[in-house]
Amino acid sequence: ITKDLESLRDLPCETLDGHRLPLWVNTGLMVDVSRSLEQGAEGVGLYRTEVPFLLRDRFPSEEEQRQIYREQLEAFAPRPVTMRTLDIGGDKALPYFPIEEDNPFLGWRGIRVTLDHPEIFLAQVRAMLKANEGLGNLRIMLPMVSNLAELEEGLSLIGRSHQELQQEGFRGSLPPIGVMVEVPSAVYQARALARRVDFLSVGSNDLTQYLLAVDRNNARVAELYHSFHPAVLQALQAVAEAGRLEGRPVGICGELAGDPMGAVLMLAMGYTMLSMNATSLPRVKQALRKLAYTEACDVLAEVMGMEDTDLVVERLERLMREHG
Ligand code: PEP
Ligand code: MG
Repeated sequence: ITKDLESLRDLPCETLDGHRLPLWVNTGLMVDVSRSLEQGAEGVGLYRTEVPFLLRDRFPSEEEQRQIYREQLEAFAPRPVTMRTLDIGGDKALPYFPIEEDNPFLGWRGIRVTLDHPEIFLAQVRAMLKANEGLGNLRIMLPMVSNLAELEEGLSLIGRSHQELQQEGFRGSLPPIGVMVEVPSAVYQARALARRVDFLSVGSNDLTQYLLAVDRNNARVAELYHSFHPAVLQALQAVAEAGRLEGRPVGICGELAGDPMGAVLMLAMGYTMLSMNATSLPRVKQALRKLAYTEACDVLAEVMGMEDTDLVVERLERLMREHG
């Protein structure tokens, strides 16, 4: 990281014509926390709770989880920290909870697992709520939701945990709750989902994989994994529009947010927050500070009319060259 980028830390992420776009970070390990604070992150858009589960040889207890979550919340307070409930399955297997399937990415993963095992979900949510006591910067987010029933069941379990804790004498209000949009069905139901939650967050890694039917980890088909595929862009725009119509903030926490070319498009689409790895943050901020919001909107309009990924990428690369 150059000196130039370092001096950016205390400057806001703002376009030349004064449009602000908060940059948040994705975290998992404790080292992500220090890195994120060094880069001036304004919040955590995705704390992957799988990480502490993966570092053990058994499920962490509610109390162990409370301590881990408390550390995260304290490190960033008063900035918001978005904790995602356990998203195992797919490519993330816990050694002490093996899942054997032919099609793991289409199988038992994310909220599907934790709704089938409410004891895991409830312990996790209770630990989060307890960790939030006296701080109030927690947000809870649900992964891999593919229909409204899953969301409603998740919301009801969170409500139940909160009520139980209140009966046990804990204080603190229910935190904002959001849902990830990372399955194509959720794109088409984004408005209905948005009405039931406080925020939406697009998981572009999975959304791209599921829209294009390209395994995000398979090197043989990596050439087909196109983040700037016109269909992916249409989906991203539809989610932003759904959030706007329902008056809900819409963020994105997939890798695309950390790509300056992606960030420009998200800005123009109306995303209200971008969440990325701490190491991507300075580059994204630098790119957005060099550009006018109106210019980003013009480029978006052009790109949304294109039918081919290569043309989109070419146009975005030209924009990046023009701004050095
Ligand atoms: C995503 O799918 O884009 C995402 C942010 O979640 P993960 O990479 O953990 O699946
Ligand atoms: Mg995902």
